[in-house]
Amino acid sequence: PRRGVRGSFVPPVRGANGSSVVGAVGTPRTQGGADNCQEDSTRKCMELLAGPDGQLPDRLRNLEPKLLEHVSNEIMDQDPAVHWDDIAGLEHAKKCVTEMVIWPLLRPDIFQGCRAPGKGLLLFGPPGTGKTMIGKAIAGEAKATFFSISASSLTSKWIGEGEKLVRALFGVASCRQPAVIFVDEIDSLLSQRKAEGEHESSRRIKTQFLIEMEGCGSGSEQILLIGATNRPQELDEAARRRLSKRLYIPLPSAAARAWIVRNLLGKDGLLSLTDAEIESICTTTDGYSGSDMKNLVKEASMGPLREALMQGRDIGNISKDEMRPISVQDFMNALQQVRPSVSESELGLYQDWNRQFGSLA
Ligand code: ADP
Repeated sequence: PRRGVRGSFVPPVRGANGSSVVGAVGTPRTQGGADNCQEDSTRKCMELLAGPDGQLPDRLRNLEPKLLEHVSNEIMDQDPAVHWDDIAGLEHAKKCVTEMVIWPLLRPDIFQGCRAPGKGLLLFGPPGTGKTMIGKAIAGEAKATFFSISASSLTSKWIGEGEKLVRALFGVASCRQPAVIFVDEIDSLLSQRKAEGEHESSRRIKTQFLIEMEGCGSGSEQILLIGATNRPQELDEAARRRLSKRLYIPLPSAAARAWIVRNLLGKDGLLSLTDAEIESICTTTDGYSGSDMKNLVKEASMGPLREALMQGRDIGNISKDEMRPISVQDFMNALQQVRPSVSESELGLYQDWNRQFGSLA
């Protein structure tokens, strides 16, 4: 039986094999507790996936419950909670994505025949530029269920089972339409490097993935596949063909960097810099990605705290009001610690690939 309102709390601890075991600390009900919890979670997951008749849809019946559960609990995100307004810059990409994929997901009846959308979208560009955020925002704006998986975890973590997990992923997505499947590092799955070195299991995962992609591209399924990569040049021709819309997500412009600084500091009530000061920060951060900017703001925001502690304040009782506002100097100091993560030469590669294969080039 489940723990009642008055039952004592049994803390979850890591099992010997790294799995999460509930209540393994010396209670007689230890094993039963873990089993019950597992059963409970499996039952909830099956309920979630059941059709109106209370039965699992045909497509899911032959799949292992543990994989369905993993997809439902770890890969599916019911509320991605990112909106266009949270993403700085990238106006052109947002506009294209809205037309190419959001409208078709919202109005499948209009986007048929010659208006039928492609089912695959590739977002490529340097790391930390908002590709994952765009994926989540698409799902949010299109009111779609969001599934997010890293392709490298399929090939490394799921050895022997990756292929089945791919089937479970597309199977669950087909029961939760409209759905957006976001595959990060898609290059590691659909790379052109293969032949002798490739493991049999990776090859099978790739084949299964291509079959599923083909399946969701045909017929009336409302499943959009979004692949993201920092290494588009690794993708083979078959992958490029299936990901027919290919959008370059570049480094943020100075205006977008300013927006990120303002937004992050403003959210925490820490914005005391003038427009001119923010502009000066942005001119010195050319080449920084969105995620570099986030790290820079984090580092700069430590300045006032470090200074107050150096002046003898105690971390145990210092109040927020006792710290001075964040200054441009804090940002200048932070610039020594946080360097841009993308080099000029890498940028050249993205631009070349965009000219050759990008949809907006
Ligand atoms: P990618 O998927 O391109 O590697 P992410 O979307 O995961 O990058 O972005 C990482 C983090 O960097 C985000 O959580 C966000 O804080 C910040 N970031 C990156 N790009 C932007 C952007 N255009 N607007 C706002 N924040 C951004």
